[in-house]
Amino acid sequence: MSKFDITNNGYSRLRSSLKYLEQYVRKIVTGVETMANRTLGREFIDALPSVMAIEVTGACNLKCRFCAYEKKELPKVSMPSATFESSVEQSIALGYSDFQLTPCAGDVFMDKYLFDKLEYLDRHADVDHYHFFSNLSVPQEEQILRLLTLKKLSTLTVSIYGHDEASFIAITKSTAKVYQRLIANLRILLAHKLLPFKLEFGFRSTASIPANAAGELMEILKEFARRGDRINSSHGVFNNWGGMISDDDVKGLDVKIIPGDVKYRSGPCAKLFDSPQITATGLVNACSCRDVNAVLRIGDILKTPLVDILSPGNQEYRRVIQDQLEGRFQSVCNGCDFYRSIYHQPKFYRKNRIKTQSIDEFMQMLDVRCAAARSGFNGKKAAKETPITSVAD
Ligand code: SF4
Ligand code: SF4
Repeated sequence: MSKFDITNNGYSRLRSSLKYLEQYVRKIVTGVETMANRTLGREFIDALPSVMAIEVTGACNLKCRFCAYEKKELPKVSMPSATFESSVEQSIALGYSDFQLTPCAGDVFMDKYLFDKLEYLDRHADVDHYHFFSNLSVPQEEQILRLLTLKKLSTLTVSIYGHDEASFIAITKSTAKVYQRLIANLRILLAHKLLPFKLEFGFRSTASIPANAAGELMEILKEFARRGDRINSSHGVFNNWGGMISDDDVKGLDVKIIPGDVKYRSGPCAKLFDSPQITATGLVNACSCRDVNAVLRIGDILKTPLVDILSPGNQEYRRVIQDQLEGRFQSVCNGCDFYRSIYHQPKFYRKNRIKTQSIDEFMQMLDVRCAAARSGFNGKKAAKETPITSVAD
């Protein structure tokens, strides 16, 4: 069942405050667990990372007030198709089969050649799935209908900003015309009861939504929730984008920004191991999540093959990890509320018995994958044969 509460929209000022305070309670609990696991030498890195993030574009049509997009210094360009195809091929050789196309900050539909890329992934025998987020306020009807023809798009997550036209404009600094395009696109998806992909929503509005807010957008969301599409609510609490966004950026919006000090920082962030991203500019970043300026860059795919970047022999990659191991956090990580220590075992890992590994085992696995890629074999098949994984308990 969707987390979205049909009766009262899942929002209330109390819920917003509780969600904010919950972060500090978690800090205490995960802090104790992190210290204990670090003492015991227990590290929880995904044993078979299979998702490669490729940023098809770094451009966006919105300027959300809670987002670092406007502060981004990297060029807001789209990735040429040839670079994209080469990135996919090189990732497959290294054992990746699942592709996350969501830009660090941007919207996939700003890429004029998006469908060439999606159809390339669809045709590729070694690609299992791909998925992405979109604010869905860029595409025209023809593009929404074209999405329905894709075969390997596993999940489309639509980010909804605001609960009506006024709050959409206040949050995104956009226009009524763009809001109406979003509404029209949602109606097209609603008209198709059986979509070929999973549809999810990230519903991000302010804490001042009236308990029983009605209006066109809310009615549409309720329809999606009734038919079982998942809606995750932010409850007016927003991420701080690696410390780049503070309460000053959202003054007057009635939202809260999570401060960076809600995390107990000890040891490298798990994202350095399971979340690499090839950015639209070609820079390869160790984290796809919140680093809009690629502070954690470990190479450039336009200059160096991926097999030499995601490699235990890459001293830049080693340095990023070693710095965090020794408590020196890069600027973007120091204030990031997405940080998750490798010494913390997430509930999700325990529940789903996700196989994990240590840093040393991760480096061995990379070595196996790189050797396989260099000799023309698929890295994933090779890594599966290495006896280094343990099931999280
Ligand atoms: S939050 Fe998403 S849609 Fe909004 S400006 Fe940032 S990247 Fe664009
Ligand atoms: S702390 Fe934040 S920016 Fe740094 S690696 Fe983790 S998720 Fe990425």
